[in-house]
Amino acid sequence: MLIAHVALPMPVYRLFDYTIDERELNKLDLANECEERSENSPNNAKSYDNRVGLRVKVPFGKRQQAIGIIVKLDSSSEIAVEKLKPVTEIIDQTPIFTAPIWQLLSWAANYYHYPIGEILFHALPVLLRQGKPAAFDTIKQWQLTEVGQTVDTKTLTRTPKQQQLLALLRNSCDIPDHFSTTIYRELEKKSLIKQVSCPILSSNWQNRFSVNPTDLQLNDQQKNAVAEITKQNQQFACFLLDGVTGSGKTEVYLTVLSDLLARGKQALVMVPEISLTPQTISRFKQRFNAPIDILHSGLTEKERLAVWLRSKSGDNAIVIGTRSSLFTPFKKLGMIIIDEEHDSSYKQQEGFRYHARDLAIIRAKIENIPIILGSATPSLETLNNGENGKYQRLRLTERAGNAMFAMQSIIDLRGLVLSAGLSMLLIEKIRAHLANNNQVMLFLNRRGFAPLLLCHDCGWIAECPRCDRPYTYHKHQNQLSCHYCDTPRALPTQCPKCGSTHLQPIGFGTEQLEKQLAILFPDTPISRIDRDTVSKKGALDSYLAKVNQGGAHILVGTQILAKGHHFPDITLVGIIDVDGALFSSDFRATERFAQIYTQVSGRAGRESKRGEVILQTYHPDHPLLKTLLHSGYQSFAEETLQERKQTLLPPFSYQVLIQGADRNNQYAPQFLQKVYDHLKAYGDKNLWLLGPMPATQPKKAGYYRWQLLLQHTNRQTLQQIVSQLLLTINRWDSIKNVRWRIDVDPIEN
Ligand code: ADP
Ligand code: ZN
Ligand code: ZN
Repeated sequence: MLIAHVALPMPVYRLFDYTIDERELNKLDLANECEERSENSPNNAKSYDNRVGLRVKVPFGKRQQAIGIIVKLDSSSEIAVEKLKPVTEIIDQTPIFTAPIWQLLSWAANYYHYPIGEILFHALPVLLRQGKPAAFDTIKQWQLTEVGQTVDTKTLTRTPKQQQLLALLRNSCDIPDHFSTTIYRELEKKSLIKQVSCPILSSNWQNRFSVNPTDLQLNDQQKNAVAEITKQNQQFACFLLDGVTGSGKTEVYLTVLSDLLARGKQALVMVPEISLTPQTISRFKQRFNAPIDILHSGLTEKERLAVWLRSKSGDNAIVIGTRSSLFTPFKKLGMIIIDEEHDSSYKQQEGFRYHARDLAIIRAKIENIPIILGSATPSLETLNNGENGKYQRLRLTERAGNAMFAMQSIIDLRGLVLSAGLSMLLIEKIRAHLANNNQVMLFLNRRGFAPLLLCHDCGWIAECPRCDRPYTYHKHQNQLSCHYCDTPRALPTQCPKCGSTHLQPIGFGTEQLEKQLAILFPDTPISRIDRDTVSKKGALDSYLAKVNQGGAHILVGTQILAKGHHFPDITLVGIIDVDGALFSSDFRATERFAQIYTQVSGRAGRESKRGEVILQTYHPDHPLLKTLLHSGYQSFAEETLQERKQTLLPPFSYQVLIQGADRNNQYAPQFLQKVYDHLKAYGDKNLWLLGPMPATQPKKAGYYRWQLLLQHTNRQTLQQIVSQLLLTINRWDSIKNVRWRIDVDPIEN
């Protein structure tokens, strides 16, 4: 009896066993789809059982059917065979995952200690999770009828549009868009054309591929980078393209890709945020005569599946996407590029908490292809890997063309009068830049009108009861909103404690800053870019369009402004408040600040206009600020790496965070204490435990959150410890009362 061990999309560390008809399996045409890959990495193809990865329908629970994925086939089960139910249906003809993706996901399940079922389903487009066929939909196309093929087009002289369309259809030319459906319908009425359903045809882009010429001449550093990368082109190697903003990293990508695509290979390009990088995307599209698919959040599920199918069948040349595009299957993947590799949005912070950059490197290894990590401000992990020789570091130190670096200065806020956080000095600077018809960008990492609403008479603070944290006041919507659990609440008119109506907003956020600027600069257009204003579809595009029109303009925004965009007319960047980052309890906060600062200042000014960056702080003598301003990111990074080395923090040690949450503030700390005692009993002196202690955000959405941090200097040993621990934990009864999870390589703690 053949038994299928099936993964279901559930947060459980086990598979579910079903019997499966071996004859049904043998009927399938299990062609190995990865011929291309076998030339690259024969050992991978061999070890792959081409019957795993099939989707099946299985009975589950009382009357229900579930979609599952076969992970293993053999003849053994811990459950008596008579008790097993049979698989209801085999959905796929061939495995839904390509061999490299299967390997990647299995690796990830192991590394992140996360249930395989959740991971496999996470990696599929939603329609495939629901059991829909992994095949293209047909599209409706107009075709000539027999009459239509032979009729004399002169009979249509009185309807010239119809005549034109018929002629074009006969010559099977590209039909321009200006033919309305009515014209098609008219021809249909005359029985000259008909609508038929046909499958989407393979694009065969390789036969028509060409690169549009540019007049750019790569500089020596760019040439060197290209040469180093192409030297390795067919095999795994990890490159760190460390190039200051505007140094021409994108040009390097484009040049390397020209060569790769010409050989018929595909590429995956990952970016932190699609909507903010329209310029980059259009540069890719302009350069290559080849199909480029963009995986952005505006796609329908059908479109998403279509992209997935196209890249799997080799019908696109490039896929550009965010974090989750990592799981796109390709027929002939030749390279992965991760732009802005330091960006924290590559780390998934919910559910399956993977780091897309780290997994991409594993994927490149499995596929045996090169990977490029690009950044002006590489993460300390990546820099360290460049130093210890794991990655090959390629540096671009000059801004391409003749653009100059921006001037930097600090405004010491001590004793100054501020309005919505702005000092007079900064206001005057803004005025001067606007007067020259330039644009100004103000950066404040706090959205909303005010981060606090306080009763002036008794000191009561409006707090979210589910998180015990102050509500943020949003004036425009006239409501309070909890930024931790995203719950809104009506604005109180009175203090619930003393009845006073003197409720006062304290502090300021981007909304207030925008209002204040509108008063100070009534004639200047202002765009606010934060999560509140860009959540509306198309809103961001229209903002960007306005800014790109040129002319005096003020942009106000949170960190999303720092992500990879390019506004050529911005000459002044003001950072309103840096002190929050300098004095955070999170050891990564300074790194993140240094990255944001370097990114935004790198974008100020251009060839003909020198940019200026101004920082407002109460701590102008902070050593980090000094290093950053006087010596730049590189020196900052070196110093910080030294510090981390001395204190044995990542990347000089490895961390795993175990979090537990419950509603009574009782089971979670008990659970973590039990984990702690268990780990202590191992007696590993190099295992360092911090906790159990309340999480950085101790209460969220009604749950009390606790955490225990594990740190070890040896990654493998730590992995083994966690695997062992999981086996034990999953046998405990008490875990039923706790929502717990494991975060490997956490980036916030
Ligand atoms: P990055 O990706 O490092 O920010 P880009 O590739 O976007 O840099 O280049 C910044 C600007 O410089 C772009 O406008 C680009 O067209 C231009 N550029 C890039 N390389 C060169 C070069 N070798 N000579 C002249 N201009 C260049
Ligand atoms: Zn009060
Ligand atoms: Zn809340």
